[in-house]
Amino acid sequence: MSDLQRILDEITAEMAERSDRGEVASYIPQLGEIDPGKFGIAVTTSDGAVFTAGDAHEAFSIQSISKVFTLTLALGKVGDALWKRVGREPSGNPFNSIVQLEREAGIPRNPFINAGAIVIADVLLAGHQPREAIGEILRFVQYLADDDTIVIDHEVAASEQATGFRNVALANYMKSFGNLHHSPELALGVYFHHCAIAMDCRQLALAGRFLANGGKSGGYSVVSQERARRISALMLTCGHYDGSGDFAFRVGIPGKSGVGGGILGVVPGAASVAVWSPGLNRSGNSQLGSIALERLARAMNWSIFAA
Ligand code: GLU
Repeated sequence: MSDLQRILDEITAEMAERSDRGEVASYIPQLGEIDPGKFGIAVTTSDGAVFTAGDAHEAFSIQSISKVFTLTLALGKVGDALWKRVGREPSGNPFNSIVQLEREAGIPRNPFINAGAIVIADVLLAGHQPREAIGEILRFVQYLADDDTIVIDHEVAASEQATGFRNVALANYMKSFGNLHHSPELALGVYFHHCAIAMDCRQLALAGRFLANGGKSGGYSVVSQERARRISALMLTCGHYDGSGDFAFRVGIPGKSGVGGGILGVVPGAASVAVWSPGLNRSGNSQLGSIALERLARAMNWSIFAA
């Protein structure tokens, strides 16, 4: 058995013992029904091997992790022009904060807070019906994971559509500043659906390979090396909302979390990692997922700061 498999098994056993599992997100009613006892982890290394442990084959709602994929698509569409409509600075605020938007005239701080991702959904809508834009995002994720069984959980999307009043407020607010080109309803429709993509840890780790491999996935070029680096830089600085500094300090690799309890981590040149545990810490990031990644990074000596 390889070292990596042993380490994943040990981490999974340790996590099963822990009672400090955080709180499952319940503001999206459908997510509140998930068993907090779940834990899964998957790693794909740059030589193509895949290692899994725990509930790594059980699909969960990737939520904000999908913002990594929509950002990648939007940069492919409009390139650096995107940065006129979205910033690149950590927010230091919760993922759904409206305060900063007022001070900064409707330009979201970064692509990973909700407001930023809603602008990106608006970019992906250009020239499309919402259904086509959603289909394009899903097909991109399927392509990256090399798995066309990945689907959108329409109950989760409907659950958020029925209750996502704060996101509706953010979208309307940005529309008032002219930073949405389509109606808030259309941009939100795309946003809620891509957040509701369901994937398991194995699929997610595979989908993240292009970031760990200088823009290449399974031998194909997805983005340039420079773009892969830049997306990873944003994950490091902004991928965990107002917990981004703490994640960088503790884990030392770029990562993107979602309120479904998943985290996608990128170890440049070495591995793509996905972890899932539904309970969240106070910043809305997976409690055990963060601890598990901290353990894994330490055991493997994975850090972008490693000498
Ligand atoms: N769909 C969620 C929301 O907009 C995403 C939040 C997250 O995963 O952090 O509230």
